[in-house]
Amino acid sequence: MGEKLSRRGFLKAAGIGAALLPSLKTGKALSRVQGKPKAILVDVRRCVGCKACQAACKLWNGLPAENTEITEDEYTNPTSLSAHTWNYIRFSEVKMGEGVRWVMASIRCMHCLEPTCVSVCPTGALWKRGDGPVLYDVDRCIGCRYCVTACPWGVPHFDEEAKAVRKCTMCFDRLDSGLKPACVTVCQTEALQFGDRDEILEKAHNSGAPYIYGEKEGGGTSVIYVSDVPLEGLGLPR
Ligand code: SF4
Ligand code: SF4
Ligand code: SF4
Repeated sequence: MGEKLSRRGFLKAAGIGAALLPSLKTGKALSRVQGKPKAILVDVRRCVGCKACQAACKLWNGLPAENTEITEDEYTNPTSLSAHTWNYIRFSEVKMGEGVRWVMASIRCMHCLEPTCVSVCPTGALWKRGDGPVLYDVDRCIGCRYCVTACPWGVPHFDEEAKAVRKCTMCFDRLDSGLKPACVTVCQTEALQFGDRDEILEKAHNSGAPYIYGEKEGGGTSVIYVSDVPLEGLGLPR
């Protein structure tokens, strides 16, 4: 793994006090733009559904556990994003010939190049940073939930306690320290990879996967999926 994953250990090593935690999570203070636009590659062919990425996201971002239910129709838990779940593994049953195949895919904010969440926000609480992450400031969120309605992927969720929307930040605080996102760091199968967006796209095109998603969809995104089954089968909108 090689990179620090514990936020407490990371802050201590970086000499950053716990008092900075709220601004690390949400504020613009540490939101410097660094380098070329980045992207996360999600290679669903490599995902084994271990959910280490899901757990790492909770750990790094200090997100609490939630009460969830396993239903007869779902084989994963939780079954959707929420204000406290910024990344979950969607299990999809895909028909293949006479049989079916299970395909697992990490679902999270796409960090769109032209984010509708940003364009509909009346207070400028959401913004796209030059190096990729779509970020937000909980102090500027007035709870109108326009972004919740506008996002084609159903990503932002309203946190009733914080009275603000919450979602994946692409671990911008880790990026600012030269680290990869927590989810990418723990993925042992390289189903998740991180890098410059142009290099990630090159990898996607050279991967031999017949389906690529995110290069143009939604105006282009900073999360790129590669798959050997049609992406509609994974519930990603066209
Ligand atoms: S850590 Fe990697 S292999 Fe495990 S569920 Fe997440 S994406 Fe899939
Ligand atoms: S996926 Fe939704 S929340 Fe994420 S950047 Fe795009 S529009 Fe915004
Ligand atoms: S990039 Fe960070 S915030 Fe986003 S899903 Fe991965 S661990 Fe969670």
